[in-house]
Amino acid sequence: MQLHNKIDREVLKKELMEETFSRKTISFYRYHYLDDPQGFRDDIYRDWFALNCFGRIYVAREGINAQMSVPEHHFNKFLLTLEKYDILKNIPIKYAIEDSGKSFYKLTIKVRPKLVADGLDEGTYDVTNVGKHLSGLEFHELVGKENTVVVDMRNFYESEIGHFEGAVCPEADTFREELEMVTDLLQDKKDKKILLYCTGGIRCEKASAFLKHQGFEDVNQLHGGVLEYARQIKTAQLESKFTGKNFVFDERLGESVNGKIISHCHQCGSPCDTHTNCANNSCHLLFIQCPECAQKYDGCCTPECTAEKEGNTTAKGPRAYQFGNSRKYRKSLALVKAEQQTENN
Ligand SMILES: [Zn+2]
Ligand SMILES: [Zn+2]
Repeated sequence: MQLHNKIDREVLKKELMEETFSRKTISFYRYHYLDDPQGFRDDIYRDWFALNCFGRIYVAREGINAQMSVPEHHFNKFLLTLEKYDILKNIPIKYAIEDSGKSFYKLTIKVRPKLVADGLDEGTYDVTNVGKHLSGLEFHELVGKENTVVVDMRNFYESEIGHFEGAVCPEADTFREELEMVTDLLQDKKDKKILLYCTGGIRCEKASAFLKHQGFEDVNQLHGGVLEYARQIKTAQLESKFTGKNFVFDERLGESVNGKIISHCHQCGSPCDTHTNCANNSCHLLFIQCPECAQKYDGCCTPECTAEKEGNTTAKGPRAYQFGNSRKYRKSLALVKAEQQTENN
């Protein structure tokens, strides 16, 4: 049996649009050691392909992270497949709120070295010994309380546009750096109640286990991340303690939680929370740019890139978003500022 789907994506998308049944969009993850990630991957591929499930699923020796859509008429059968595997038994499933059921058009299951890259050797710490999970409302109650420390476990380009009030937001470009920085920043706070959060919760699973390994005792994490917090706050009609935009990995690159703009254009400094990719194909830096600067620099991050862009209109270099470059964009900001000063003098 072929365990990969190689049909043309346009054909698959068309087929998805023409489906006459509906799909449920769900997500779940769990850290759980697998002896044979590839074997497990092939098994679930067979099970879920047979049920016409679509999605993007990652499997590693340390666990599984899945976002998928399941045909409604197969949903009970799908739930039964979960009972076959220890790692999937009773796994908490999150159901998408705004569900068109059209988020995926094929089934992709990949084996990766890690679910979340931490740069550490396997077995350095026990990834299954996690902190205490707090619901959105429990977390809300604790933010700002005495003897608590709120820590943003996301990268700087994420926390820059939105974060919890008073949170520690390290200037990290990767999760690996984030772990190191947080451990340093919290060195004298081992007796405090640590409140970790990230976008959807998966990074905190790892971060909380790491901090426990480092000797922190009262480690807590926001279950379901900012996404779930925003939902619960809205339902309970409470004022959000998360201010600004929640960065998410889709076309919109973020969703405002309380309507406030807390960040600035990296080029002119005016209030702005819109990320963009440098239009120079050999750069593709992710940075914050206001509409005026977008026009002035032709969508580029520096004058150098504006000039270089003219010469490379064909797509070369990295085509995917280049995340994690906060140092580079602060440097690019400095370059542009210097140029403006020269212009003004
Ligand atoms: Zn600007
Ligand atoms: Zn650039």
